[in-house]
Amino acid sequence: MKNDEPTVGRRVLLRTAVFAGVAAAGLLISGNESGTPGTPGTPGTPGPPGQGGAPGAAAGAPGSLAGRMPEKSYRLRPMTAEAPLRPPAVKPAVRTRPILELPAGADTASAMVLTFDDGPDPRYTPAILDTLSRYGVRAMFFVCGEMATEHRDLVRRIAAEGHVIGNHTWTHPLIPKLGRPALASEIGRTSDVVQQVIGEAPQWFRAPYGAWNRAAFEIGAELGMEPLAWTVDSLDWEEPGVTTIIGRVLRGAGPRAIVLSHDAGGNRSQTVQALSAYLPQLLARGYRMTLPTLPARPPR
Ligand SMILES: [Zn+2]
Repeated sequence: MKNDEPTVGRRVLLRTAVFAGVAAAGLLISGNESGTPGTPGTPGTPGPPGQGGAPGAAAGAPGSLAGRMPEKSYRLRPMTAEAPLRPPAVKPAVRTRPILELPAGADTASAMVLTFDDGPDPRYTPAILDTLSRYGVRAMFFVCGEMATEHRDLVRRIAAEGHVIGNHTWTHPLIPKLGRPALASEIGRTSDVVQQVIGEAPQWFRAPYGAWNRAAFEIGAELGMEPLAWTVDSLDWEEPGVTTIIGRVLRGAGPRAIVLSHDAGGNRSQTVQALSAYLPQLLARGYRMTLPTLPARPPR
């Protein structure tokens, strides 16, 4: 099940230039309040109206998140100083709401997604990775840039073991309180460090606290990322006790559910213990832990 193929930069030469463009655009309108109030990830809300007609979840197909582009030819492009700098070849449409669950489909009828935010943290992330590996399960890790740059070996391990790394901003701010240039920096620097470490920029973005606004959707899309929220909040950061976390996840389990947990930001030993208990139970109930497929993107 593991996708051990090395990741290859998809927008290698382009991302930094895009970020600079976003920042510049933000500066131009920085006199305005940035964006409208966002849509928090409301548990139980029906799924998003996929703007691109999402074709269904990955159904555990290794490499389903890769292979969308002729990556090898991309890599062979000469890296000269004169190389034209332009936006990513394929950008997602700008959404007004985050994705809250996997799209309906035959291949997602028993699918769930596990996500871990705020890391990586050497105290907890390795144990979570060990548990996922024990059951052959892949998950998503929404990393903060300031953690990722400190723990690059862990970022590398997460990717090498077939998990997906998403962007969770650099310092975990409350996005609606940021001006647009600051937000562009929070998001852009995080994509940069992920790309530096694993050779590929994130393709998923998650707003801290589920606090989205228009600028977050716009900047995320500009950098080639889809906004992903969650269906089930384990509220593990409250440290409510291992049993409580297990109960929340098992009660919230269902087809297409995306589960939110945290591998950093505090004492996450309860998260680690709970995972090792609820994961085998979810699998025994017939759920498959999968990764979401990127929705179809509009042609250029
Ligand atoms: Zn977070």
